[in-house]
This record gives sequence, C-alpha cells and structure tokens, in this order.
Amino acid sequence: MSEEKVLIFDTTLRDGEQAPGASLSITEKLEIARQLAVLGVDIIEAGFPVSSPAQFEATRLVAEQIRGPVIAALARASHDDIEAAGKAIAPAKNRRIHTFIATSPIHMQYKLKKKPDEVLKMAVEAVQHAKTFVDDVEFSPEDACRSEFSFLVEILAAVIEAGATTLNIPDTVGYILPYEYGRMIARLKAEVPGIGTCTISTHCHNDLGMAVANSLAAVRNGARQVECTVNGLGERAGNAALEEIVMAICTRPDFFSSEGLSSLSTNIKTTEISRTSQLVSRLTGFVIQPNKAIVGANAFAHEAGVHVDGVLKERSTYEIMTPESIGLGGSRVVLGRHTGRHGFKDRCEQLGFRLTEAEIEQAYGRFLELADKKKEVFDEDLMAIINDEVRAVEQIYELQYLHVACGTGTLPTASVRMRCRDQVTTAAACGDGPVDAAYEAIRQATGLSPKLENYSIRAVTGGKEALGEATVRIREDGKKFIGRGISTDIIEASAKAYVDAINRMVSAKNRGEEDGPKVQL
Ligand SMILES: [Zn+2]
Repeated sequence: MSEEKVLIFDTTLRDGEQAPGASLSITEKLEIARQLAVLGVDIIEAGFPVSSPAQFEATRLVAEQIRGPVIAALARASHDDIEAAGKAIAPAKNRRIHTFIATSPIHMQYKLKKKPDEVLKMAVEAVQHAKTFVDDVEFSPEDACRSEFSFLVEILAAVIEAGATTLNIPDTVGYILPYEYGRMIARLKAEVPGIGTCTISTHCHNDLGMAVANSLAAVRNGARQVECTVNGLGERAGNAALEEIVMAICTRPDFFSSEGLSSLSTNIKTTEISRTSQLVSRLTGFVIQPNKAIVGANAFAHEAGVHVDGVLKERSTYEIMTPESIGLGGSRVVLGRHTGRHGFKDRCEQLGFRLTEAEIEQAYGRFLELADKKKEVFDEDLMAIINDEVRAVEQIYELQYLHVACGTGTLPTASVRMRCRDQVTTAAACGDGPVDAAYEAIRQATGLSPKLENYSIRAVTGGKEALGEATVRIREDGKKFIGRGISTDIIEASAKAYVDAINRMVSAKNRGEEDGPKVQL
C-alpha cells in the first residue's frame, strides 16, 4: 500500500498569537519556534511582517535562527505586504510566502469593495510577485467556505497558472460542517484545472467546535496539509488543535487507509507534544482546560472503578493512546543537587534553550537553590526556572523583599520593598487575602495600578515541594500583558508574576510598541 504524508503547518505564532491577550515577545516567539522545530512541524508560519516592525523582526529572526521547517510569512494580496514578507523570510533556507484575498460575495462587496474580476486579478498579481522572491507560494481564498464554488474554481485555476504550489481553503469564520467541507475538498480536487500538482491545505476555525473534525474530513478527501495551532490557540474559539489532528491520524490509520486510500502519517515526533503544549500555555498565559483532548491534565486520568480495573489488567481496554506517546509519564528525573554546571548546561540545550554564559550562571544558581529544597528536579522545573530567570524584557521593577501576614480572624497584610532602576521604595497594605494584600503593596510601591484581569496558579510538577507557577493578565488602556512567576512559595510566585506583568507593560510603553493591523484568515 502506498504511503503519503500529511504536512503540519503550524500557525501558533501568527493566527494563534492573535488570540486576545496572547501576544508574545520576540524572544518568546523564538523559543516556541525552536520547540516547533524539535516537534517536527513541516512549516512554521512565523508572522505577518507588514503589520508592524516587531512582527517583521520576529519573522526575520525565526527565518534566520530556526532550521528544519519551512518558514512562511503571511501577506495580503498587495505589493507592500509581499515585499515585507519576502524580505522577512529571506534568511531562511526553506521559505514560503502565503498570500490571500477574500473571495466570498459578502467580503468582496463590504470589505474589499471590489468586483470578482478585480479580486482575481489581484490574486494572480500577488502570486506572480511572490514568485519573484520564492518558489514555494501558498494562496488562500479567504472565507472560501462562503464563496461561490464556481468562482473558487476559477480563481484557484488562475493562481495555479501564476505559480501557486499550495492551495489553502480557509473556513475563516468556522461555519462549515465536516461532511460539507470534505465534499468541497473532493470537488475542488476533481474540478480545478492543474490542481494535481499542488498541495491542498485546510485552515479551520472552531466556532462550532468543528475545526479538527473539518480538517480531518478534508484530509480524508485529499488535503495533504493541515494548518493548526498548539492547544488550538487562536482568535475567538481558536484554530484546529495540532495535537488532536496528529494523534487522530496516528491512532486511526485504519480509517484513513480504508477503501483503497493511501495510508497516512505525519512527520511529528509525538513524544514532544506534551512539552510543546506546556510551553505554549506558559508563554501565552492560556491555561489548558483539564478535559482538553490529548493535552489536558485529565486526558489520561481514569477514575471510574471499572475503567481503572480494566486499564490495570490490560491498558488497551480503555486507553486508545498511551500517555508515553505524547511524552508524558515514565521516569523523567534528570537532575539533582549533585549535577554539575556542565550537566545542567547540557540538559538546557537538549531542552532547546540557547543561553548565554551569564544566563546559564543565573539559572544554575536558581537550580541549586531549588535542588536543595526538592530532591528531584524535573524537566518541567528546569524549563520554569529558565523562563523565570531569563526574562524577555528589561526588569525595570524588582521585588526585593516580601512579607505577608495572614491567618484566621486577622486582616491579611503585606509589606514589600521594590527597586525601580536605582531607587528603592517600600510599601505596606492590607487586602482581602494575602495575594490581594501583596498586589496592593506592589501598586503603592510602583505607583502603577493596572487592572488585574486574570489570575491562576498551578503546580509545575507533583509532590509537596513542587514549584508553584502563577500567571496573571493585567490590562491598561485596552492593552493586555501577561506575567509569570515561580517559587515554591505560592504567594511569592503570585507577587513575582504581577511584577513581571508590570515590567512588560512598562517596557512596551517605553518602546512605543503599537500593535499593527490584524488579519482574519
Ligand atoms: Zn485563521
């Protein structure tokens, strides 16, 4: 039987990052891109370069530093967009320009204010222009699922003629259902002249909870590229979840190869799924719901007595995948207090971190402190320490001292000492609870009072000495900033997370960072 690959096109850094409040710094984008390369994705959509200098620079750095996957940049069907995309991805060994224009009557009439023949002409010109930068050009008719089928056939045939090599069929608004989408892909495959030489791609949104099901229906009907994001991150209800697509293809080969079809596989190293998911969750501040398929905390937890009994006797009674297959479980104790600097550095590199000597020194000191409190230091601890120590932004404010008093029948109070550049301030406050008191003291010490939108805390690993990781989201002037802090003391972790968010807010203000236009696709 013949075997075919389904290419995984990851758009966590482009479409995923558009999720409200998920914005990532350049350093964080690079860290995710590095892990996506380890995970084995085929294409990384690194950004939308024309939208802002920061987007351009992030895309350029991913193109320069990440080897393995094809690096793609998004561009509307316009001259400036394609110039910016072409320049941003120039340093990449394998590169792609992904250009798009809306083709549904509602988008053409109200958004573009253009006639179909003008849209077709723009699409062809965009592909021709992109071809002057790269061979590998992807074209998307935005809102394809609400477009007229005959116009889709016409525009796709025209862009193939102009040199497009991948044709993506986006369900921009998450409107279509699996049976319909599968049939649409099959019809396009049969009816678009020249489509045989191109890869058909899916891009599905989850507004009706169908993103993964739709993508798989398309795959079953001949699509060989799936656009998706880690943890299903994305605007509104999100994009198709990478981990669900990959594990469905991996767990049900019988279905995809039935009725004489080729057997399918992906290039994903599934044992990296859990780590990638955790990293994206931590850096974006989007906590994974416990019952999330594949990567939720309960995805492999069996509680019903009869299930537990069955799994103990024979795992496959109730388990269709093993936790090990996504990189969970097994013994992962790697380091302890006797680990030397060299072993520590090695492990950091294996985990995908590229640190300077100074950063290693800093993180190693922190590691020794933790190893004293906690006998076994896991990879997750190590990643948390490094993310905590090696900050993406300048630490304008630093929490030097925190004291909290609380108990039954007393008013929780907190005192802090903070450094702001070379000035030291102290403040004390009371609150509804110890965290609230600490936050009030920090607000007084810094003179800043952003609105706290979201607060969560989780244990990085199990055990009573586990590191606690706090994530907060603050808002000021409509902009959102995420902060994280870790400590074996959860109040301290919470305070550090708040200070981290404040630092991100202040440094974004200092850089005069403006968000560029965001696009729907
Ligand atoms: Zn999208």
